[in-house]
Amino acid sequence: MIGEDAFCPKTGAPLTEEQQYDDAGRPRRVVTADEESLAADAAGELTTGAVRSSKAALFNRFRRCHERHHETDDALYRKAALALARLKRTAEDTESWDVHVWYALRKRLAAAGHDVEWMHAHVEPRCPHCHSRLRYEAYADTVTARCVAGCGGRPDQLTAIRETIAALYTRAFDTSIDPDEFVQF
Ligand SMILES: [Zn+2]
Repeated sequence: MIGEDAFCPKTGAPLTEEQQYDDAGRPRRVVTADEESLAADAAGELTTGAVRSSKAALFNRFRRCHERHHETDDALYRKAALALARLKRTAEDTESWDVHVWYALRKRLAAAGHDVEWMHAHVEPRCPHCHSRLRYEAYADTVTARCVAGCGGRPDQLTAIRETIAALYTRAFDTSIDPDEFVQF
């Protein structure tokens, strides 16, 4: 992922808070040294994170974030690894963005009875067309999310996000699900 939730796209290792500048003068963050980043020789690399990360990176990120909220749960990690493998194998086009895979994984684990509320704290919905940030607006009981880059003049991107996640989920797990089940993703 990129932005606030960015991590190393190869290994899932955290990035430093402070920025460094690469040879072209672009601001980057540094991949911190942990077991995974050292093993993959990625520690110390400059990155801003990625829209699409590796399966291993997503899994390591999942486990690391989970351990910040709960006790280690190896049965959950095995289930998450299996689900991630199916999601990554199935995802096409924008479905394979980390943000969509993360929400589909969340739904899969919730359906199996796991507490996955904590997963919200580590992801931010993005425009499903251009990956820009979203600006939320509330009218009465309705919340809409507009692409800050003004994608196609569409007033709301939440429906398209739900449809993207639902399409991925349906094919990955050979089941059918209504996009409305992803009202909160
Ligand atoms: Zn957009």
